[in-house]
Amino acid sequence: MPHRPIPGASGHPRPLTLLGDEILRRPCAEAVDFGPRLEHLVEDLFASMYAAGGVGLAANQIGESLRVFVYDCPDDEEVRHLGHLVNPRLVAADGIELRGPEGCLSLPGLEAGTPRFDHAVVEGVTARGEPLRVEGTGFFARCLQHECDHLDGLLYPDRITGWRRRRVLRAAARTAWGKAVAARA
Ligand SMILES: [Zn+2]
Repeated sequence: MPHRPIPGASGHPRPLTLLGDEILRRPCAEAVDFGPRLEHLVEDLFASMYAAGGVGLAANQIGESLRVFVYDCPDDEEVRHLGHLVNPRLVAADGIELRGPEGCLSLPGLEAGTPRFDHAVVEGVTARGEPLRVEGTGFFARCLQHECDHLDGLLYPDRITGWRRRRVLRAAARTAWGKAVAARA
């Protein structure tokens, strides 16, 4: 087996941005510099995701408004999917739409039943600019749609309506981090 470094081993966890932080609302810029800085960013994303116990993390969640995300996420068959995508495009989201519990490291401690398609295909490149196509079903398809949303400035409460949306936003406002972000704004 060729030696492959553990993702995030050379990265450093960074503080996470939270619902209410303006950077999460701004569409991220395409990455154009495929040098070591981008590989460092991917490493920091992995380190930050693992430190927070998440299954996916987008660059604007650690303060970089760039179209990059990482994931280490199981699907519904318990198959583990691990990787990163730069400049991803959601080229397909189809199959049945399922409402399932969804959380986000930018709304820590909360979740809400959120509708997502059961199948998703994302195309992008690696941090070295190599083309990549990632396909997912079930919970991993949910993760891919969630992370692509982040890069467009969307969060899961934007995908829900009515009492579910009101409940999660009210709960967020009541948390310590929600109050801190509101005080900063
Ligand atoms: Zn998220």
